[in-house]
Amino acid sequence: ERAREILERTKERETNKLGIEAMDLLEAYGIPTPEGTIVSDKEAAVKAAKEIEGNVVMKIVSPDILHKSDIGGVEVNVPADEVASTYDNIISRARNYQPDANILGVQVQEMADLDAGTETIVGMNRDPQFGPLVMFGLGGIFVEVLEDATFRVAPVSEGEASEMIDEIDSAPLLRGARGRDPVDEASVIETIQRISQLVTDFPQILELDINPLVATPDGVEAVDIRATID
Ligand code: ADP
Ligand code: MG
Repeated sequence: ERAREILERTKERETNKLGIEAMDLLEAYGIPTPEGTIVSDKEAAVKAAKEIEGNVVMKIVSPDILHKSDIGGVEVNVPADEVASTYDNIISRARNYQPDANILGVQVQEMADLDAGTETIVGMNRDPQFGPLVMFGLGGIFVEVLEDATFRVAPVSEGEASEMIDEIDSAPLLRGARGRDPVDEASVIETIQRISQLVTDFPQILELDINPLVATPDGVEAVDIRATID
């Protein structure tokens, strides 16, 4: 099984943290992710960007740098002719910030449609009393300010996942406030359930966050992941 392989591989490393190198974990559980490639030199970055339609997003890939934008490790909307220089910039900022970081490369990722979409979070942490708590909330830059999130113990049923959407204060934002098109709630529900399944199948996942899960009228896309593995 793909997911098992990915998790076993982390055990052989000196860290128990996983970043966007673990995107495949989501794909293995059928959660949509934008097209993305991890490269380790700028020529490969340029090549990877060519395979993707339009401008790209570039991100530092390191299990030691899990808050990537804090260190200038995320560049969105990069045009083709700036991919090579952006590669160098991202790597040098990361090295500057943490000289001993294990840098796996740079991810070249397709842009998600943030204009049509809303950034949400699906996460999990293990509560000593209740066990695996699956979290759903508003994502993006508002997370810390609004603290708009709700929790259920895994395994989460379809009905419970649906209730989670109802419960957050920002539910109207997902349901077409201000003339926006409502997001595809069925895909959000499915993602909550798939994460619930993943963390039920693998107790060694201690915590996990998809932030953001971009929800649009057409579905969802997980553009970022971090996890802690036992
Ligand atoms: P981190 O959370 O480690 O800083 P993210 O991958 O979440 O890194 O990127 C930071 C922000 O950049 C996201 O919250 C989102 O607003 C934007 N972003 C990241 N990836 C994409 C993408 N593929 N398409 C559009 N916006 C993106
Ligand atoms: Mg993020």
